[in-house]
Amino acid sequence: MKKHNFFAGPSILPQFTIDETIKGIQDFDGTGLSVLEISHRSKQFIAVVDEAKSLFKELLNIPDNYSVLFLGGGASTQFLMLPFNLMNKKAAYLNTGAWAAKALKEAKYFGEVVEVASSKDKLYNYIPKGYSVPEDADYFHITTNNTIYGTEIFEDFDCKVPLVADMSSDIFSRTIDVSKYAMIYGGAQKNLAPSGVTFVIIRNDILGHVERPIPTMMNYQTHIDSESMFNTPPVLPIFSALQTLRWLKAQGGVEAMEKRNIEKANFLYDEIKRNKCFQPTIKDTTDRSRMNICFIMNDGYEAFEKEFLDLAGENDMMGLKGHRSVGGFRASTYNALPKESVEALVALMKEFEAKH
Ligand SMILES: *Cc1c(COP(=O)(O)O)cnc(C)c1O
Repeated sequence: MKKHNFFAGPSILPQFTIDETIKGIQDFDGTGLSVLEISHRSKQFIAVVDEAKSLFKELLNIPDNYSVLFLGGGASTQFLMLPFNLMNKKAAYLNTGAWAAKALKEAKYFGEVVEVASSKDKLYNYIPKGYSVPEDADYFHITTNNTIYGTEIFEDFDCKVPLVADMSSDIFSRTIDVSKYAMIYGGAQKNLAPSGVTFVIIRNDILGHVERPIPTMMNYQTHIDSESMFNTPPVLPIFSALQTLRWLKAQGGVEAMEKRNIEKANFLYDEIKRNKCFQPTIKDTTDRSRMNICFIMNDGYEAFEKEFLDLAGENDMMGLKGHRSVGGFRASTYNALPKESVEALVALMKEFEAKH
């Protein structure tokens, strides 16, 4: 039996994705060759990229004036490609976690960065509100889901300057209004594919407004013009991403995912609240992530942290240890995690409570 996979990333993928990837590695689309050893310019692989793009557009309702790109380098490379392409003099950033801070740091190489608000003072355990974004900023950057700390921004809000979002860990987990964003990007290894591919959704008219020259590989326009084929793209991760996108569609799309994700998250948060041994790290329920559920031992039960982790391991639950900067536990409940895994965790928490 497969173990319960609560890892934060790389993380659980649908069994369908894994099975179809194995098939493609053995014989890709009846070519008699493995997807590992075929030209990225073959018509079969171009069809993979085309279908993956059109499923992105369909599943997220992406308007026609946007491009979808599949690039290498991870979300971390987007931290610098973004200001390279979009920032003339000034950009605004919301500092909601370690990834947000890393994105902000890279932007400083390109001009003035305004940190409009930060929750660092409280170990990033809330989403700042009531801040204002300078209207002369070239864009405003947010991280919608803070994978390490377990907070999430759910609202696609109106913004006077172009809004850019790192959605590495919540893309496809809930419906979004893409038209509110100038750009959305993320590493695929949290909710979509094995590591190695990065998606970028970008509104075409946002490009071409900066004065600096942009080296070819760093220029989004290069990748738009060449349909993500300027250089060799991450072939296998894109192939796997396509399988996940097909699975998503067959499951009823993003709306169906959202419904399941709400159920899973509520089920676990309710138990964390009820159980005398545990408490959530994010107290404001409106800020709580549905993808990364963080909790710690309750007051007086701190000494039992290791015991619970060991018990989880003995019960085939993997990846529950919280990030080293937060401690405690983190259950990542991405799309592919079945409700049964959350139920197993909740049952174990109840058992643990009865013992103490
Ligand atoms: C994991 C993660 C990243 C880093 O992604 P890489 O692909 O490893 O560069 C960036 N942002 C968020 C929100 C993440 O969860």
